[in-house]
Amino acid sequence: MIDTHTHLYDQAFDPDRAEVVARAHAAGVSACILPAIDQSTWQAQQACTGFFSGFCHSASGLHPTSVNENFREELDFARQTLPGAVAVGEIGIDAYWSREFLKEQVEVFEEQLSWASEKDLPVIIHCRSAFPELLESLRRTRSSGLRGILHAWSGSTEVFTEANRYGHFLMGIGGVITYKNSHLVNVLQKTSLTEIVLETDAPWLTPSPFRGHRNESSYLMYILAKVAEIKGLSPEETDSRTTQNALSLFNLKPCNE
Ligand SMILES: [Zn+2]
Repeated sequence: MIDTHTHLYDQAFDPDRAEVVARAHAAGVSACILPAIDQSTWQAQQACTGFFSGFCHSASGLHPTSVNENFREELDFARQTLPGAVAVGEIGIDAYWSREFLKEQVEVFEEQLSWASEKDLPVIIHCRSAFPELLESLRRTRSSGLRGILHAWSGSTEVFTEANRYGHFLMGIGGVITYKNSHLVNVLQKTSLTEIVLETDAPWLTPSPFRGHRNESSYLMYILAKVAEIKGLSPEETDSRTTQNALSLFNLKPCNE
């Protein structure tokens, strides 16, 4: 399995990061993608991908909830960190926490979409309570070769399909799929496995049966099991297909450790 979205560098993992990685390995996770947040988390992210090189891969970008009046400086910084990144992310629009800098968020998002085209990198998109804005940005920028993940997808099948008119997007499925009465079950039923990748978003969005505790990459197996159950496939088949999707998107080599 590949955890296509974890913040393993978060301080929640400071006490036992190596054990967390060992448990992920033991659970069958062969690689992790670590999306960036902003300048303040960059050093920890670099240390983590350096220490677990070959297992952890960095994405670079400015997270929408970190967009405020100093976004120019943050963007300049994020741009400098692009060499070596496997993706531009996480980027996007978040109107759930605050709409104060929504205009700036849109500007920052669209600028980073253009980086992805320029560098021919996939994107990792965070979109919360801002689906019309997301579609509008994708429509307006029409970046060439745009591809990536709509991470922690919480939208409808219709919006997902609409987004795919402007690029090739995979749906990032995480712990929320394991929650009782998740509307995502219905969305997943209507989505082909060729369009799905798995993610934890650790330390957040913990799947059941560990909901309420810190999330970690080894719990990806609970997400895999739920996706397999919904799709009526074996976990092995579901793993091999979603892993292949992630390998091709991030241009990673298969790893059999
Ligand atoms: Zn994230």
